Amino acid sequence: MRRWVLHDTLTFQMLAKAACSTKLPSPSISDDTTSVGLNKRRANVGLPAPVLPMSSTSESSRSCRVSWGINKFRNSQAAMEAIATRYHAPATVRQSYMTEFAVECPKCKNEAAITVSSPWFLDSGKLVCSHCTHSETAADLVRYKVSVRRNCDTCGKLISKVIPHSKAPVDAFAIPCPSCGEVRMYKPKNESYTQPYNDPSDGLAPVFDLPLWLQGSIRGNLFWAYNRQHLHAIKEYVGAKLRERQTTTHTTMVERLPQFIKDAKNREAILKLIEKLERKLPTAP
Ligand SMILES: [Zn+2]
Ligand SMILES: [Zn+2]
Repeated sequence: MRRWVLHDTLTFQMLAKAACSTKLPSPSISDDTTSVGLNKRRANVGLPAPVLPMSSTSESSRSCRVSWGINKFRNSQAAMEAIATRYHAPATVRQSYMTEFAVECPKCKNEAAITVSSPWFLDSGKLVCSHCTHSETAADLVRYKVSVRRNCDTCGKLISKVIPHSKAPVDAFAIPCPSCGEVRMYKPKNESYTQPYNDPSDGLAPVFDLPLWLQGSIRGNLFWAYNRQHLHAIKEYVGAKLRERQTTTHTTMVERLPQFIKDAKNREAILKLIEKLERKLPTAP
């Protein structure tokens, strides 16, 4: 039997109609090598595979026309739905969204914005709050561990002194020897480090480690987004019932989303949360 390769629902409908009216052999449905098969698409949108009538008797032709009418409606509905809910955003990676972070201001607890010059240079981060005018830079978070550990120049006994969180490096400081009491100037070692607001974890911006403004719980799982664009991209993906790979060159941001976000059973709950989070954002002018 000739195998028909169906590329879209419209072609399918035309063939089905032809099968009813002109005694054509019922087309079989198969995936071709260049496009996703119709059965797969139908499975993705949650519809059963269609059944085409075979018989050419007048009775079955009538029932064929009736079922064709019903199926035509169903198929066109499904086609429209699939087109309307197909994910077709650019194949972005998570870093594509890591230039701005909506966070909770450490002073007034309202929404503040962190901007960085590059996702790969988070030390360039700058925090600005438009509610309380608080601002600071990632460089402000740098601290120094200043330490001296050596033997006394006079008596040879051990001298040890540490300043754990100095805001600036120290060139030299005077230390009295605990054994002989001699006070001398010593040159310390300065080790720099960044002191964020919190220990790094999910739900925190990767610079300053402040709580992300856009976050919420879904059945015990933490949902979060860096900013409006990130939230919108996730919303598009979650809302789409047909999710196809956008590229084979890299793994995209949406493909790396946690399983609970991809899970169809959580779709409604996540879309509801996203809409709630959208209301926390200022409306565009
Ligand atoms: Zn503030
Ligand atoms: Zn000494």
